[in-house]
Parts: sequence; structure tokens; C-alpha cells
Amino acid sequence: MTATASPPVTTPTGPAGAAGSEPLDAEDRSALADLAFAVGRRYADRRFADLDAAQAHWKEVCEAGLPAISLPPEHGGAGTTSDLLLVAERLAAGGYPAGKLTISTAIGGAVILRHGSPEQRDRWLPAIGDGSLRFCFALTEPGAGSNAANMRTTATRTDDGGWRINGEKTYISAADDSDVMIVVAKDAESGGFSLLSLPLPCEQLQMTPSTCTSACPSASGRSTSTTSSCRPMPSSAPPGRGPGPLRRAQPRAPHRGGAGRRHRPLVPGAGGGVRRRADRLRRAHRRAPSRPAPLAEALIDLEAAWALIERGAEVYEAGGNAGLACNMAKVKACDAGLKAADAALQTFGGSGFTGETLMFERFGYLRLLRSTPVSREMALNQVAVAGLGLPRSY
Ligand SMILES: Cc1cc2nc3c(=O)[nH]c(=O)nc-3n(C[C@H](O)[C@H](O)[C@H](O)COP(=O)(O)OP(=O)(O)OC[C@H]3O[C@@H](n4cnc5c(N)ncnc54)[C@H](O)[C@@H]3O)c2cc1C
Repeated sequence: MTATASPPVTTPTGPAGAAGSEPLDAEDRSALADLAFAVGRRYADRRFADLDAAQAHWKEVCEAGLPAISLPPEHGGAGTTSDLLLVAERLAAGGYPAGKLTISTAIGGAVILRHGSPEQRDRWLPAIGDGSLRFCFALTEPGAGSNAANMRTTATRTDDGGWRINGEKTYISAADDSDVMIVVAKDAESGGFSLLSLPLPCEQLQMTPSTCTSACPSASGRSTSTTSSCRPMPSSAPPGRGPGPLRRAQPRAPHRGGAGRRHRPLVPGAGGGVRRRADRLRRAHRRAPSRPAPLAEALIDLEAAWALIERGAEVYEAGGNAGLACNMAKVKACDAGLKAADAALQTFGGSGFTGETLMFERFGYLRLLRSTPVSREMALNQVAVAGLGLPRSY
């Protein structure tokens, strides 16, 4: 049995926002920001390991229509990438970020919107928008990490027009909780990069779950932050459910700094709850005015990061090569977020490390973002090449 592929798409389809998408006006943007903040705020005192909270949070995000925001109007959307980033930032600032908004909506949605066929866009974008279809993204490999130059997974055309994917991926977030996997593979013919959509479950795909950390939110029904190792993915998927190309044979490594990479880090939200916890918070807040400098510095860094994030969104929306701008934003945002979380932790003193304030859990999440979805070092490598013109070192 061989896989049946969707029609190939060989060229980008233009600006990421696609025809018809306009940024929201100031009033709508402000209302959107308030809405997202309020949703995040309602879960600010919930642990990431609390799966009920993760699922309820994602349900609220979807019911509020937030995942659709950057889609074109014909697919149920109303704004642009910049508006989606605002939603991601405000949810996190409220106290509870939405991981699926990054992987499924921003990465999955942006890839389909920019590189999918008209049929793929019609089929998948509305379902990404209402949250009924969930995507995961498979780039990292054992031995290659997220350095696509060392990737070994291949995609080969089969005689009947299908595709065979062979390879092994690792650390694929929410692979057990997704409907479609976007696989990055080397085109066996040209050596360039291809993105292929693989509907899940796929019986030829072997998955080994691993629980990495409880420092990030997950709506997975199994465990917090389940990642998976996936190995050989041959072509013998049932007809119509095989891997289909989204974009073929990119001459260079795909950017790991696309739309889904950009969200402004948060100073962890905390509040409410048991009296002891409230006392600790009050004590910490009392201390803040006498030690404002580290918090003020953190705010300045966050604002600088946000400016770079908006710049990245602007270049991306214009259909330009946004890798440099987005990788700069990624590095600055991760550093600024971690610095802010560290300053907040220090202000809280010992209580920052208690389970009641959740400060250390949120700090851990911000630290994770230095290593994922693309490592800080790989982002810097790309900046050195694209921004400084240095030879590739990786
Ligand atoms: C919770 C979690 C979720 C994840 N989710 C996903 C996902 O959904 N999809 C996905 O594709 N991946 C995912 N990853 C993988 C993540 O992107 C990688 O772990 C990360 O990119 C580092 O790769 P590695 O673990 O193989 O480490 P290695 O590649 O072994 O790297 C180890 C260290 O060396 C540095 N390094 C490596 N090469 C270079 C170089 N050339 N120059 C300078 N420094 C270098 C790295 O930056 C890193 O700090 C996830 C990881 C975690 C922990």
C-alpha cells in the first residue's frame, strides 16, 4: 500500500496574512488584549501539571475565538499575525500561556496558510481556527537536534504519486494529542527541505512517549508536556491518509523563527488562593517598591523584546524573509523573559520557591523557551549568517 499525496505546492503563496487580512484597529486590539488577559488571569493560580486546568483553559481560548484571529476572513479570521502574537502575549501576561496556540495555531496555521494548497487551506484552516484540529511539528532529530543541516529524515516520491518518509524525530510536543503532524524532511531527490503533513494516528508511525518536564502547560490527556520519539515512517499509510506535501525542496534550512516562535515572555502572574499565599504575595509586593531597579530593568528589556517581536511580525506579514528579524526577537524575548522572571523570583525571596506562589514553575517555563522550540544558539547562528554575513558555522 502506498500513500496518496495532496497536489504539490511549489511556491509560497504570498504574504502570510493572505489576501483580505487587515490588522485590527486600535479599539478592537485593545478589546482583544483585555479578553486574552482575562482568560489567562483566570488560570494564573493553576499549576501547569493540572491537566483539568490545561484543558479548561484551551477550551476557553477556543470558545473566545482566539486561535482564529490571524486567519483570513474567508477562513473565519479577522486580524493578522501581529494580533495573534498579542493574544499569546496577553494570555501569558495574565498568568497562563497557551502552548497549543504556538504549535498548532501559529506554526501549523502559518505553514498551511503560506504553503498549503487551496484544498489544504479550505480543509484545515477553519478547524485550526476553532481549535477542533490540532497540529504538532516534527523537526528535531536524535543526532541532529534542531539543526536542519544535519537532518537525516528523507521524503521520497513513490511511483503512484505518494510519499515515503523515512527517519526518526524526537521531542515532538503533543504528538499524542494532535490530528496532524507537520514533518520536516529532506527531499531525497533535490536535497532541499520539504514540509509534509501526516494525518494522525498513522499506524506506520511508532511513538515512544516521554515526559520531559512539568514546567510547561499542556492540554494533553496523558501527562504534562509529553513529547514523543517517532521512528520510521514508511509510505504504507492508508490511501488518502498518507503524507502530503505542503512545500517542497526549500534550498536552505527552514527558519525556526516563524510566526509561532514569537511571544512576549511574561512576568509570572500569581494571586488569590489560600491566606498564607496571599500573605506571601503581599509581603513580596511590599518589598518591590524598595527594590525597584531590577524590576524596572526587566520591564525595559521586555519592551525592547516586544519591539523586535512586532518588527518580526511586520516583515513576516509583508511576505518577506523574516528569519533574521524573528530570530533576533526570539533571542531577545527569551533573555528578557528569563531576566524578568529572575527579578520577580528574587523579589519574592524564599516564597518564590514554594509551590503556593508558582513563581518557580513559571520561571522554569521561561527557561525552557531558551532551548525550545529552537535553541538560543541556533537562533544566534542564523543571526550571525544573515545579519553579519559570517560563514555558516553549523
Ligand atoms: C519540552 C520540549 C518540547 C519540545 N518540542 C519540540 C517540538 O514540538 N518539535 C520539535 O521539532 N522539537 C521540539 N523540542 C526539541 C528542541 O527544539 C531541542 O531539544 C533543542 O532544539 C535542542 O536540540 P537537542 O535537544 O537535540 O540538543 P543538541 O542538538 O544536542 O544541543 C545541545 C546544546 O548544544 C547547542 N548546540 C547544538 N548545535 C550547536 C551549534 N551548531 N552551535 C552552537 N550551539 C549548538 C544547542 O543549542 C544546545 O544548547 C522540544 C524540546 C523540549 C525539551
